[in-house]
Amino acid sequence: MTVRILNGSAIRDQIYAELQSQIAELQSQGIRPGLAAVLVGENPASQLYVKSKIAACEKLGIFSEELTPPATITTEELLRLVADLNRRNDMDGILVQMPLPKQVDSKRILDAVAPEKDVDGFHPFNVGKLVAGKPNLVACTPLGCMEILRRSDIPIEGANAVVMGRSDIVGKPMAILLMHAHATVTICHSKTRNLPEVVRRADLVVAAMGRAAMVTTDYIRPGATVIDVGQNVITDAAEAERIFANFPEKIEAFRKKGNVLVGDVHPDVVNVAGAITPVPGGVGPLTIAMLMSNTVRAARLRRGARSGSPQAVGATKS
Ligand code: NDP
Repeated sequence: MTVRILNGSAIRDQIYAELQSQIAELQSQGIRPGLAAVLVGENPASQLYVKSKIAACEKLGIFSEELTPPATITTEELLRLVADLNRRNDMDGILVQMPLPKQVDSKRILDAVAPEKDVDGFHPFNVGKLVAGKPNLVACTPLGCMEILRRSDIPIEGANAVVMGRSDIVGKPMAILLMHAHATVTICHSKTRNLPEVVRRADLVVAAMGRAAMVTTDYIRPGATVIDVGQNVITDAAEAERIFANFPEKIEAFRKKGNVLVGDVHPDVVNVAGAITPVPGGVGPLTIAMLMSNTVRAARLRRGARSGSPQAVGATKS
């Protein structure tokens, strides 16, 4: 049996093409979608994420503004900044890059973002809408996983789906989206007993634990679909050689770069799965694509735009 590699970059390009025509349609009505990115302090990983998000906006013609308050900012000051963005009519989406410095109350900040501008889908209002089966703005990574499944014609209805991880930003919304798409969903976490046995029952596995290469071949039923959300940077040579023992080109790349990216799924799973997302180039590209999609959707909903397209990209069926 040959495995299908679910190419996230190709799906992202398809979504960008669709978004470009939606943005042109909005612009013809005098609306330019706008995204505000709040980057507190100088965390290099956060800087890189925000840079990629701004670059995607520029590619698509979405107006973007980066706000970079210092790491010493207080909760009250950041709340005022978010309130200003909530009031601005040119900003349809507000993203506050996590993590925030320790002295800032992250929950208060996320809850302060106006639900109609909450393009990360983290606000309790939007989480509630998702649970109620009336999705408004949904968390980008799980939404991206659904786009991969749907656009690759992977059957979801009736499938046994196992979601590994129960975080608010990935595992939980993922499980709810799959349930609304009529999968039979099991959610696993660090206290789950007999994890490999539970995961082996799945037709569809979503791995989102942040544990490098943990999901080995013995977890996967032959032919199952595997969506690997994990993004783990390996910097230890012995670990890289152990994980990628059957992938000499990856070991070579590690030697040149000093690090290598691996998902939560072991690379050998490619020999067992029926379909699998690669890391990199699987779920990652979709996360930013869905942020763009949510921004366009927020602009359309908030500014009462007329829509020529029946359903926005990423709009989930319930
Ligand atoms: P969190 O750390 O918030 O959550 C991890 C979850 O995995 C928890 O529910 C935890 O269980 C569970 N878990 C941890 N260890 C185990 C274990 N040994 N067995 C079973 N369950 C376990 O992570 P996130 O959800 O934020 O992210 C998960 C992964 O996805 C990370 O690698 C992250 O980098 C990646 N990610 C990738 C994105 C992308 O664009 N590709 C975007 C967002 C995240 P418990 O609740 O019991 O502690």
